[in-house]
Amino acid sequence: MKEENKKKLTYVLYAFIIFALFCFLVWMGHFRVFQDFITNIEQSSFDLRQTILSKYKKPNKDIVILAVDDATYEYIMDKYGSWPISRKIWADTINFIEIAKPKSIVMDLLFVKPNLNDISSDKALVETIKNNDNIFLSMNFDNYNDEIRKSPKIDDKFKLKIKDGYLENNEYITFINARTTMNELTNATKNIGAINVTRDKDGIIRNATPVFKYKGDYYPNLSLLSAMDYLNIDSISILDNNIILDKNHKIPLDMSQRAILNWYGKSGSYKHIPLWEVIKAQKENNLDFINKNFKDKVIYIGTTATSLSDIKSVPVEFNMSGVELHATFLNNILDNNFIKKSSIKTDFIISIILCLIVGYFVLKTENVAKTFLFLFATLTIYSFIALLLMQIFNLWITIIFPFITTITTFILIYCEKYLLKSKDYEQTYKLAVTDGLTQIYNHRYFQEQMLININNYNRYGQIFSIILMDIDFFKKFNDTYGHQSGDCVLQQVASILKKNSRTSDIVCRYGGEEMTIILTNTNKKDAEITANKICQAVRNNRFTLVNGEKVRVTISVGVATVGENGSTAQEIIEYSDKCLYKAKETGRNRVVAQI
Ligand code: GH3
Ligand code: MG
Ligand code: MG
Repeated sequence: MKEENKKKLTYVLYAFIIFALFCFLVWMGHFRVFQDFITNIEQSSFDLRQTILSKYKKPNKDIVILAVDDATYEYIMDKYGSWPISRKIWADTINFIEIAKPKSIVMDLLFVKPNLNDISSDKALVETIKNNDNIFLSMNFDNYNDEIRKSPKIDDKFKLKIKDGYLENNEYITFINARTTMNELTNATKNIGAINVTRDKDGIIRNATPVFKYKGDYYPNLSLLSAMDYLNIDSISILDNNIILDKNHKIPLDMSQRAILNWYGKSGSYKHIPLWEVIKAQKENNLDFINKNFKDKVIYIGTTATSLSDIKSVPVEFNMSGVELHATFLNNILDNNFIKKSSIKTDFIISIILCLIVGYFVLKTENVAKTFLFLFATLTIYSFIALLLMQIFNLWITIIFPFITTITTFILIYCEKYLLKSKDYEQTYKLAVTDGLTQIYNHRYFQEQMLININNYNRYGQIFSIILMDIDFFKKFNDTYGHQSGDCVLQQVASILKKNSRTSDIVCRYGGEEMTIILTNTNKKDAEITANKICQAVRNNRFTLVNGEKVRVTISVGVATVGENGSTAQEIIEYSDKCLYKAKETGRNRVVAQI
C-alpha cells in the first residue's frame, strides 16, 4: 500500500474506533446497571471534590445551630428524666432567646401530638409562637395510604406563592400524605416548611428538594421558607429550571427538579450552641450569653445527639445531623452557590474531545513512555480543571465518563497502531523474501527453506526433492531479442513453474536465469515426473516478447533428492547442479535425475 493511503487508512480507522466506542456507550446507556455504575463512581468523584473544596469555604456566620447534642441529652435525662422535654421548657428557652432579637428561630423538630398530661405546657409553647412571628415550624410529606393515616388538609396560609412557572410531578417532589405539627401549633404560626430529605442509591444525601407538591398545591422546604424570610421575599418564580428568589438569589434545579448542595465541611462547621447551655443561661438570666450568640442570627434548632438518630451521610461526612443538612441548604440559598451539573451533551462533547486528543497523540508518538505520560498528564490536568470549575463556578463537570472513554480509546488506538504495524512488518518480510522481477521467492528464502527441510528430514525423516533449472542459450536470447524481452521470458517461466507445482512446493529464483523448486514430501520418481512436466510445459509454451512477437524457449533441468543424493543443503544443491550440467551437455531441453 502507498504511504499516503496507509496514512489515510490509519486516520479513518482512528475516527471509526472513537465513533464506534461512543455508539457502544450510547447503547450501553440503555442498561440500568451500566447507568448506575457510571453514576455511582461519578457521585464518588463529586464527593471527593466537595471534601477537598469544603476546606476553603466559609459557612455563613448568620446561621447558628441550637443543638440538642449528646451532652444536652445527658443533661435532660439527668434533670427531667425523659425526652422529649416538656414544651414549657422550649417555650421558656425561646422566650429567653427572643430577648436577643434573633432574625428567626427555625425548629427542625416535629411536634406531632399534644401532650394530654401536660396541656398547660403545650399552651405555653403555643403562646410563645403566637407572640413571635419569626418562629418557623416543620412538617414532613410522605406517601402513606389514607387508610393508615388520614392525609391532612394544610391551611392555605402555608402554601408557597409562585408568581410564574411550575414543576412537573415526580417521586421526589410529589406526595400524597403529610405529617404536620399538632393543630394548636399549626393555628398559631404563619410559617411551616417541609423537612423531607432524599438519599441517593448509595445512601448519601447530595440533593435538597426546595418545593413540594401536595394535593395539587406547592409548599416550601423549611430552608427555602426561612431564606425567603431572611431575604424579605414573599413569592418565587420558576424559570428555565431555576427557582428565582430575587435578582441575586436563585436555586438551579437538576433533572429531578432538586437542588444539588454545596458543602461547607464536616459536622461542626456551623456554630453550635448546646441547648443545655441556653437552659442554664436562662436560669441565670445571662443576657450577655444570648446577645453574644443569637443577636440577628438565624437559629436552627435540631438534634445532633447520635442517640436521637437524626444522622445522615453526606458527601463530606458519614455522620452529619439533619439540622446541619438543612442549615447547609439555607446557606446555599443565602450565599447563592448551589452546584450546577453540566448537561449530558456537554459531558459527551468533553469526552469526545479528550479521546480525539489522546488518540491522536498515541498515533503520532513512537515513544511508549511518552504516550503513557501524556495520558496521565491529560487526565490529571482535566481533573484539576474540574476541581477549579467546581471551586470558582460551582460547576460539576463529569470526570468518570471522560476517564473511561479516554482510557478505552488509549487502549484501542494502541491496538490499531500495532495491528497496522504488524501488517507493515508482514509486508516488509514478504518483500524481503520475494524476487522483484518474477514474484517468486528469492535465493535467501530458498536457503532458509533448504535448512528447514534438512532439519525436518533429520528429525522426522520427512523427505524432499529439489528441481534446478536453467534457460537454454539465454545469453544469445538476450542478444537477439533484448534484455527487456529476456525479463519477460523470466516472468513467464516463473509463472509456468508455479502453475505446475503444488501449493506446498516452494518455487524460487536461484539467481540469474536459474530457478529452483523444493518439493516437500516428494521422492525422486515423483520429482522427476514433475520436472518432466515442467520441461514440457516450457517447451510447448509460446513466450510473448515486449514487441508482441511469440517465440519458443527451452530449459534444462536437474533433480536431486535428500538421502539418496546427499544429506546437507550443499550436497543436494551440488548434485542437482551436476544433473543440470549433464542435461546441458547431453543436448539441453531435458531432465537429468541421475549422474
Ligand atoms: P546455457 O544454455 O549454457 O545456460 O547458455 P546461457 O547463455 O543461458 O548461459 P548462462 O546460463 O551462463 O547465461 C546466463 C545469462 O542469462 C546471462 C545473462 O545475460 C542472462 N540473464 C541472467 N539474469 C538475467 C535477467 O535478470 N534478465 C535477463 N534478461 N537476462 C538475464
Ligand atoms: Mg545460467
Ligand atoms: Mg542458461
